[in-house]
Amino acid sequence: MTQPVPPAPPGLPESFRALRAVKDESGVHPEFQQLTLTDLPPGDTLVRVTHSSLNYKDGLAVAGQPGVLKAYPMTPGIDLAGTVVQDETGTYPPGTPVLLTGWGIGERQDGGYAEYARVRSEWLVPLPEGTTPEWAMSVGTAGFTAMLAVLALEDHGVAPGSGEVLVTGAAGGVGSTAVALLAQAGHTVTASTGRPEAAAYLRSLGASNVIGRGDLPALKRPLEKERWAGVVDSVGADTLAGALASTRIHGAVAACGLAGGSALNTTVFPFILRGVNLLGIDSVACPTPRRRAAWARLARDLPADRLAGVTQLRPLDDVPALAQEILAGRVRGRTVIEVG
Ligand code: NDP
Repeated sequence: MTQPVPPAPPGLPESFRALRAVKDESGVHPEFQQLTLTDLPPGDTLVRVTHSSLNYKDGLAVAGQPGVLKAYPMTPGIDLAGTVVQDETGTYPPGTPVLLTGWGIGERQDGGYAEYARVRSEWLVPLPEGTTPEWAMSVGTAGFTAMLAVLALEDHGVAPGSGEVLVTGAAGGVGSTAVALLAQAGHTVTASTGRPEAAAYLRSLGASNVIGRGDLPALKRPLEKERWAGVVDSVGADTLAGALASTRIHGAVAACGLAGGSALNTTVFPFILRGVNLLGIDSVACPTPRRRAAWARLARDLPADRLAGVTQLRPLDDVPALAQEILAGRVRGRTVIEVG
């Protein structure tokens, strides 16, 4: 980052609240602190943050697990929504409602768990017409990632009516939104979950079929019986390997996550004998045109009333405890964080 810090606009509070990940001799731990605008990183745009969200990555960062935060102290929170206070580029007038996911906030620079954030204007997406910051964070990185996965499957010919589409880790944030988006688009969705008690919830999102983790076809051979027209996978590891081996000829698998592990032991046979496409999904540096198209589609297909049952609203104070919950796989659907 080389941009200078612009002078603060008048009328702002002297200090504001932030949840920081702090590193000391005992390790990394979350701590509520009062910051000033001069504590924020460089950037051309100041945003008043009203809402953020809780993603698996945020759980890792807040709980002090290695791999997410690149420096300390740091404000986690890979998503934020609020209003523009000042944009030095002139792109957004003060008061414009905006959202921001990815681009390294809450990882390489301070993120959404603070009442103010200084970012780059080009990272912002204006809130789609008729939506609210709470809706945007109910979608958040998890929902945006699910949308990118569905778009990728569609780009590779997985059309409604082409057969069963499998969603793994279905009761999680990415999975829940993928189930809802696929069902809305007219796909027949099979949701795989390790939580049998989530079956009614997944059906309410539009799943036609709910199966347990253990019901996925076991990976015994390089190619298993063809079943899935497409797959949205947030689990990785053997689940992804099994999905590849069970995907139908010319089907596609969108690899979104690693909730079950990052290793992938497979063979080339699904690719060279069935023409299966393995599609990588990256929400962090997704190019702006794709990003805006995805948010426009989310606003159309997942209005606030469809997300209501998927979302819990929690205060910033709860984030340290919620971090432990999401890492333990006990958070269902999406969690919006009220920041201020
Ligand atoms: P959640 O914790 O909300 O959901 C993950 C789900 O995966 C859980 O709800 C659970 O589903 C399932 N799961 C968890 N542990 C295991 C396990 N050991 N074996 C099998 N299944 C498991 O996280 P998110 O939905 O926010 O994120 C899901 C994954 O996607 C994460 O790995 C995350 O890092 C990644 N991700 C990637 C992004 C990208 O840009 N590619 C962006 C956002 C997230 P159930 O209870 O239904 O079994």
